[in-house]
Amino acid sequence: MQFFSTRDQSRRVSASQAIAQGLSEEGGLFVPESFPQVDVGALCELDYPAMAAAILREYLTDYDPDFLAGAAAQTYGAAFGGKAGCLAPVEGETWALELWHGPTCAFKDYALQLMPKLLVEAKRNLGRTEKTLILVATSGDTGKAALDGYHDIPGVEIAVFYPTGGTSEIQRLQMATQEGANVAVYAVRGNFDDAQTGVKRVFADKDIAARLAGRNIRLSSANSINWGRLVPQIVYYFAAYARLLKAGRIALGDEVDFCVPTGNFGDILAGYYAKRMGLPVGRLVCASNKNNVLTDFLRTGAYTARREFYKTSSPSMDILVSSNLERLLYHVTGSDAEVAALMGRLAREGSYTVRPEPLAAIQASFSCGWASEEEVAAEIRTRWERDGYLCDTHTAVAFHVAEQHKRQGTPMVVLSTASPFKFPRSVLAALGHAAPENDFEAMQALEQATGRTAPASLAGLRQKPERFDAVIDPAQIAEVALGCQA
Ligand SMILES: *Cc1c(COP(=O)(O)O)cnc(C)c1O
Repeated sequence: MQFFSTRDQSRRVSASQAIAQGLSEEGGLFVPESFPQVDVGALCELDYPAMAAAILREYLTDYDPDFLAGAAAQTYGAAFGGKAGCLAPVEGETWALELWHGPTCAFKDYALQLMPKLLVEAKRNLGRTEKTLILVATSGDTGKAALDGYHDIPGVEIAVFYPTGGTSEIQRLQMATQEGANVAVYAVRGNFDDAQTGVKRVFADKDIAARLAGRNIRLSSANSINWGRLVPQIVYYFAAYARLLKAGRIALGDEVDFCVPTGNFGDILAGYYAKRMGLPVGRLVCASNKNNVLTDFLRTGAYTARREFYKTSSPSMDILVSSNLERLLYHVTGSDAEVAALMGRLAREGSYTVRPEPLAAIQASFSCGWASEEEVAAEIRTRWERDGYLCDTHTAVAFHVAEQHKRQGTPMVVLSTASPFKFPRSVLAALGHAAPENDFEAMQALEQATGRTAPASLAGLRQKPERFDAVIDPAQIAEVALGCQA
């Protein structure tokens, strides 16, 4: 399997190269040349690690299959407490695919616990000996998940950039207390898009690349623009399907709908890949918060990033430039020139409009909707009071939107992307309690109010010393990159 750039099909690379490099040199994203067709029935017989290995093998064809099996077994066993791909009943035909049982309590662990292993192996496959400097722009969860995955990995240095005040206090502390000799964390003045744009600028800067190369350092990305982030996420769509099959809720071949709380469009795009590989996915419902740029796009074909930015209670979805949409645009147009033109327009004018045919192709698979802050809070409360199901703010966005798209006789799987204890003040307030200012007091109050226990990795943050407090401007990200000691 080869991969090529969404903006230039002549740039072909192996899976190892795609993972080691992250982004194509001219700014495009790597996509697989085809969608491997799989035997869904056979895959559904496998346990989570074996299923993951089987799917990874389809794409990472230049990796040793035994390595992939070992890496999957190591990643999705104990670190997820035996709860990888956990599907919880909510009510009727609605299910929650709980993806937050990993070490940092957000779904990003599925990719970022595996990625470091894939990167080290990619460098081995390619015979590369340089140091890798990973730059990560994060709206909260990616940063911690990447730090946890990459800390103390030999030959790797990681720097994480998050928007000042753009994360929950728990998310900030998760990053600021990160241990490891090869990690650094910076707060960036501005919002997530400012941080992401700053990081992308460094990746695109040939002068910086040359100066780092002189010191035997190569830049790479752990954001979902890296193919290695997407492929592990395909697995849990199959796992959810397998669980419904096993529970007798569906027969092989029946459709299942998925509703995904969306920011950078990575998680939901993995569902699209699952569908293209032969999994009977019905609707892929794209759920947005008040930053509803994707809702507008999926309805009209006009993508307008230049608009007001809102800080919401679901900060990991506070994104106006959804990077992975570029991959979908490539898959529905099949044209690198068209994608390059659209992305050029987005960079210059802050907006673009797709032709009616690609829009129709997108709408054939994707539905959409969004939830206001009031609707998110009401959803958290309703789910708890009516269904006894406690969810976080991001998942609540998806529950709200899923409700509008339910189809009689078709299971609706809502991707539950974070532990409710990651956003304790918002969740507590939504349940109608006065939320203490302090996140840890809120966490305890939420435990008392619900009888649920906060994950130990979150409660334990209170005792950990903060290691990082630097605040920088987006323009300083380049300086930081050049100053890294990788
Ligand atoms: C990152 C994140 C999302 C959005 O996922 P994308 O792949 O960026 O669309 C949703 N919920 C939570 C909790 C997240 O951390």
